Amino acid sequence: MVVGAGFGGLYALHRLRETGLSVRVFEAGSDVGGTWFWNRYPGARCDVESFDYSYSFSEELQQEWDWSERYASQPEILRYIEHVADRFDLRRDITFDTRVQAATFDEAQGRWLVETDDGEQTSATYLVMATGCLSSSRIPDFPGIEDFQGQTFHTGRWPSEPVDLEGKRVGVIGTGSSGVQVITALAPQVGELTVFQRTPTYILPDWNRPVGPDELRELKATYPQRRREAAKGALGIPIPVTPFNKQSAMAVSEQERVAEYERRWRIGGVCVGFSFKDLMFDKDANDTIAEFIRDKIRERVEDPETAEKLVPTDYAYGTKRPSLGVHYYDSYNRDNVRLVDVRADPIVGLTRNGLRTENTEYELDAIVFATGFDAMTGTLNAIDIRGRGGRLMREHWSAGPRTYLGIGVSGFPNLFLITGPGSPSVLTNMIFSIEQHVRWIAELIEWMRAEGTEVVEPTEAAEDEWVHKIAALADRSLYPATDSWFVGANVPGKPRAFMVYLGGAPAYAKECQDVADAGYAGFEFSRAGAAVLS
Ligand code: FAD
Ligand code: NAP
Repeated sequence: MVVGAGFGGLYALHRLRETGLSVRVFEAGSDVGGTWFWNRYPGARCDVESFDYSYSFSEELQQEWDWSERYASQPEILRYIEHVADRFDLRRDITFDTRVQAATFDEAQGRWLVETDDGEQTSATYLVMATGCLSSSRIPDFPGIEDFQGQTFHTGRWPSEPVDLEGKRVGVIGTGSSGVQVITALAPQVGELTVFQRTPTYILPDWNRPVGPDELRELKATYPQRRREAAKGALGIPIPVTPFNKQSAMAVSEQERVAEYERRWRIGGVCVGFSFKDLMFDKDANDTIAEFIRDKIRERVEDPETAEKLVPTDYAYGTKRPSLGVHYYDSYNRDNVRLVDVRADPIVGLTRNGLRTENTEYELDAIVFATGFDAMTGTLNAIDIRGRGGRLMREHWSAGPRTYLGIGVSGFPNLFLITGPGSPSVLTNMIFSIEQHVRWIAELIEWMRAEGTEVVEPTEAAEDEWVHKIAALADRSLYPATDSWFVGANVPGKPRAFMVYLGGAPAYAKECQDVADAGYAGFEFSRAGAAVLS
């Protein structure tokens, strides 16, 4: 059984069918797409180039799909996923509009018993959680939220029917990646746009553009090489797109440093973050790129006071996920857009007619919450997942998520996480990481069937060691010091833990391969209802 029909669930369905298993998928949404089904807000698009942010498992699929832009928009990505579902005849095994509420491991039978919100109970040998890292959207508990009489939207639950905001007074709360995209798209459309910003974002240019026929032909012809390069890149993105400079930012003169930033800025995208080897590890090095980006903001925004509000100052570059875009700052040069710094003038709550800060009341016809997600663990913890002895996974994770390889959880046999916490997941090209996980899990199941064993789970010792490894890798970096969703700081009461493997995609893939080559070291195997074998 697979839960979720986004990129992860669809590939799991396809690949596990190939192993000869019968597979059933439950999906809460009414169609395939996951992130790209739910996040239909104006301006939504990927920030990994389309040619990399796409499946590699089928050469025919690669050759028949024509990406129209360097960074595809949400409608195009959703069309692509729908095409994949049709092409590989995936929908026949997916039950839509159905949410998995509980899953209990029956130790006697060695099966997962699963309950869905339509009251159905069903069971499966293996349970694959392809529930997404960013799939539980979150609206903060603003007082008076139910009093507001206007329209409200969350970017991560944008309606599928058209939304007409033309001429309206619209407020956007949040300036992370979703906020940046929706603000850029709404600014020219709406009557008045008021942006409520608590923390400004570091934004890199994407220089998005259409892909012409010659470029398309060239890109398709070089796909195999591109995918091989992706496997060598720290982010699962080809090295030519993310060339890594092995020098320290502090080992070169200021002139050389700025020249390197400028050169990469002109190329655009995530390659800027690879300008020097120590940007994410050394505060002095990080300060240099942060200051470079701050100057870019000051150059672009006409009103100096607004520019200073848009400049991030209180956290290191990259420790909250940077956004991509070129026209965001132009929004603030428009007469119909104003920026409210809600750190200086905090939001008190919503009112019947709008939003109140400590100093001002803003009348609004609509409010867009670009306030993010209960990331990495929120969706899994919303399900009553019970492993051996009836233990709830959310209790096992009460001090932060515990996994082995980000794939398995001790005491939860035959349960597999796709891009789970403790894997490189959200700090990579997610489709690359999804494919790597699905392949690895399918191969493990094939191996188990060949060995005649039925139940697999990580040992507690292997899980402990992995949890320490994730923390140790993070502690060498600048990430843990920042209040970000990477550490769960955006959700009140969530335990603080850095949830991503920081060693890079190739090192992680090697760890997974080494585990497999050693007969799945760190996992123990048993027959259903029997004691653990090894
Ligand atoms: P999802 O796409 O989140 O799918 C999970 C599915 O599981 C959902 O459809 C959900 O409804 C379903 N589900 C969850 N719980 C249950 C349940 N209990 N019962 C039934 N169904 C359930 N990553 C990148 O690498 N590059 C990008 O450019 C990029 N852009 C992004 C833009 C946005 C706006 C967002 C929010 C994320 C972006 N990401 C990006 C991350 C993105 O989430 C992944 O790239 C990828 O789409 C995740 O696929 P998935 O199948 O793992 O999860
Ligand atoms: P996010 O990064 O968590 O941003 C949420 C924003 O809402 C932040 O600016 C946050 O401010 C603000 N906020 C939250 N609670 C608030 C409150 N009570 N009052 C005022 N402001 C509040 O969420 P997101 O923008 O949806 O992005 C989440 C992730 O999805 C991204 O990091 C990325 O991985 C992915 N994504 C990718 C793309 C893309 O370009 N392809 C687009 C969208 C999303 P603080 O920072 O102060 O908390």
